[in-house]
Amino acid sequence: MVYEAVIGLEIHVQLSCTSKMFCDCPNRPGDDPNTNICPICLWLPGAVPRFSLETLEKATLACLALNCDIQSRSAFDQKVYYYPDLPKGFQLSQHHMPLSRGGWIDIIDENGKPKNLRLHHAHMEEDVAKLVHETEGRTPISLVDFNRAGTPLIEIVTEPDMRSPHDAMAFLKVLRTQLRYTGCAECSMDQGTMRCDANISLRPHGSDQLNTKVEVKNMNSIQHVGNAIAYEIKRQTESLKNNEPIVLHTRLWDPEKRITTAMRAKFEGPCVPDPAVTHILITDEWQQNMASKLPEMPQQKVKRFVRQYGLTHDEAAQMSSERELSEYFEAVVKLGASPRTVANWIATQLLPAMKEYGHEFATTPVTARRFSGLIMMLEKNEINSNSARSVLTKLFQTAQSPEEIVDQFGFRQVSDTGMLRGIVDQVVSDNMSAVENYKNGNKKSIGFLVGQAMKLSQGKADPKRLQEIIREKLA
Ligand SMILES: [Zn+2]
Repeated sequence: MVYEAVIGLEIHVQLSCTSKMFCDCPNRPGDDPNTNICPICLWLPGAVPRFSLETLEKATLACLALNCDIQSRSAFDQKVYYYPDLPKGFQLSQHHMPLSRGGWIDIIDENGKPKNLRLHHAHMEEDVAKLVHETEGRTPISLVDFNRAGTPLIEIVTEPDMRSPHDAMAFLKVLRTQLRYTGCAECSMDQGTMRCDANISLRPHGSDQLNTKVEVKNMNSIQHVGNAIAYEIKRQTESLKNNEPIVLHTRLWDPEKRITTAMRAKFEGPCVPDPAVTHILITDEWQQNMASKLPEMPQQKVKRFVRQYGLTHDEAAQMSSERELSEYFEAVVKLGASPRTVANWIATQLLPAMKEYGHEFATTPVTARRFSGLIMMLEKNEINSNSARSVLTKLFQTAQSPEEIVDQFGFRQVSDTGMLRGIVDQVVSDNMSAVENYKNGNKKSIGFLVGQAMKLSQGKADPKRLQEIIREKLA
């Protein structure tokens, strides 16, 4: 029998709010342990939560970016369970009346075709405290850090529309881009600001039944999500072939061994309406106001970049993949460099160099002005692309302008015909066998001769001009 996988995801995203969800403590979980705390987020008996408007605004923007229907009334429930990271015994979450329902994301599937993946709903919930496991002498101890307690999250729950590891990974990438564009969330899986659980079940290909699913947790990169799903599909296929029943449970992904291991029976505690936090009522007017705060989203930007700058679809998609990148691209183009050269140089030279030097767009010393200066010198043939690459490296190391670097290090391209002829004469007399080959019809030899001439010019000659002169001379 051929099985198909049915995959749904639950994604927790930390909202980048300045304060926690129900108190005014700073939302900075990384500070020294237990410094951002108060009676409310220590969950002391009698403390009354006060819901923050900032959480609602950012959660709403995030939902709008995912095409969700914002509900005019939503409410918090107490999701009841006890664990040392939740000493009050319940988590405030929206179980019965979530902030939004529906929504969708478009991905490109394995066959290159667009595929629409639906969301079931998205809701707000508070994060729990963080447990830190250490040893004191030989005694294992667990410490609780409440800096994270009560920080704002949204949980996004998809419909089980995904069929492969590829679908799930593509979904997460688009989701991350959409949410990052809004500025509401950082969505970094390795930093833990985006966490994903996957529900996976199998069914005979073509059937529409939903079978018992297994939940997999503990993946801290998008690639791990793909690997864990692939492993789980294989494991469940073998179980079914051996007539072993699939039971509902939770498994952990082990990235070292690249397997999933059984953790516990899946636990669902009761959810009861919370009496302290008032219902959230959203008017159309307020929602429209939030929608007007959404920036131009990636799909619109791609279309505009194609139309306005003549980029190919792939170039436009690449330049729109991050908001900061797209803004940098446009800033460089506005200073006069031609869009396709800029897109090409950002993708193939600037981004790798930024990675090498450990810079983001916010911190890069290669500002839009300096980068556009470099690209325009290249376009005016004042330097060749070899030299431009060297100048780019120097832009990371010095504060000089590209023009100053070119002058100081003698990168200016040699296009002076007399000088180039001198170089060609030298190369031709030094490489008679290559010249003979060329004259005997081996036209590839010209590449070798141009290379030798470039070397002699210390990389500064205009390679096109050199080739013309060599052809003339050997004609
Ligand atoms: Zn607090």
